[in-house]
Amino acid sequence: MTPSSINPTDRNPGVLLIDDSEFVHRLLKARLKSESIRLVSAFDGNEGVGLAKKELPSLILLDLDMPVMDGFETLRALMDEPTTRNIPVIILSGQDTTQDKVTAFDLGAVDFVSKPFELTELRARLRSSLRISSLMRMLEQRAQIDGLTGLYNRAYFNNRWEEEHSRALRHGNGLSLVMLDIDHFKSVNDNYGHPAGDAVIAGVADILQGHIRKSDIACRYGGEEFVLILPETDPEKAKGLCERIREDIEGMSWPMHPDRNITISMGIAGATGAPTQQVEPWIAIADSNLYRAKEAGRNQIVCSETPGSLNQAG
Ligand code: GH3
Ligand code: MG
Ligand code: MG
Repeated sequence: MTPSSINPTDRNPGVLLIDDSEFVHRLLKARLKSESIRLVSAFDGNEGVGLAKKELPSLILLDLDMPVMDGFETLRALMDEPTTRNIPVIILSGQDTTQDKVTAFDLGAVDFVSKPFELTELRARLRSSLRISSLMRMLEQRAQIDGLTGLYNRAYFNNRWEEEHSRALRHGNGLSLVMLDIDHFKSVNDNYGHPAGDAVIAGVADILQGHIRKSDIACRYGGEEFVLILPETDPEKAKGLCERIREDIEGMSWPMHPDRNITISMGIAGATGAPTQQVEPWIAIADSNLYRAKEAGRNQIVCSETPGSLNQAG
């Protein structure tokens, strides 16, 4: 997934100005002072692309008419680079021919302002672009996040699992996948109501988050099912982690039903070195291990090396 550069909560967004004119830099620096933005300056296309990659600004103001690498070339370079592709670019141009405008928009610019510009108008356009891009970023994030738990959702999992799988192949690292399901969850809903069920799902998610490392990924896979991606983790280590999670959840007291504890079952499929298992069958193995854990009486973990022999921990 492409990391986007726009932080919706950024109260002081970075704006990169790429223009060869010292005058424009001085002018904008003075006139945008009141705008609570961080203005970063580049004086040619090359420097601009380099700074864009490094600083990941929230917005770029780009002059068209520059020596060596002109604005169109610069815009192409920004669009070619995955980390800068989503940064909105406003074109500043001394000429406002229709052809220039069409080319700029076709290349991916979000707006076009003719020089000499009316500063009030430029400020308004800048604010509007920042607003739109921050909303886009928020939507992008929300599309990956599960609303009840704050964990990543299944769509995110699918992409990320493929990414982590190929990373493990490339580097010859171990990798484990954990499928997790709350035991007899339906009876929580039935006996204590849907909000109590929701609280259990959210509580289990919190415990998962509290146990995993920064590099691990916890996702809500569906209703009361979760999945953990554990990069650089062999199945033995994964089993240790899962055992701690299992114990924690079993021992937890739930305010909405203090007399009823919650348990979970888990299926682990992991590789110790470079994985030999494909993306889809790997998920199926973890899932069938989860099913075995359920069959064997729930509140337990079934773990296997992929491909490999089964071993079980209670
Ligand atoms: P098992 O031990 O075999 O996993 O049994 P179970 O009762 O946990 O599993 P089952 O799949 O029969 O029931 C899952 C229930 O989860 C059914 C569904 O209504 C409920 N559920 C799914 N999503 C949500 C949700 O977001 N909130 C609540 N409260 N319930 C949900
Ligand atoms: Mg269940
Ligand atoms: Mg289920």
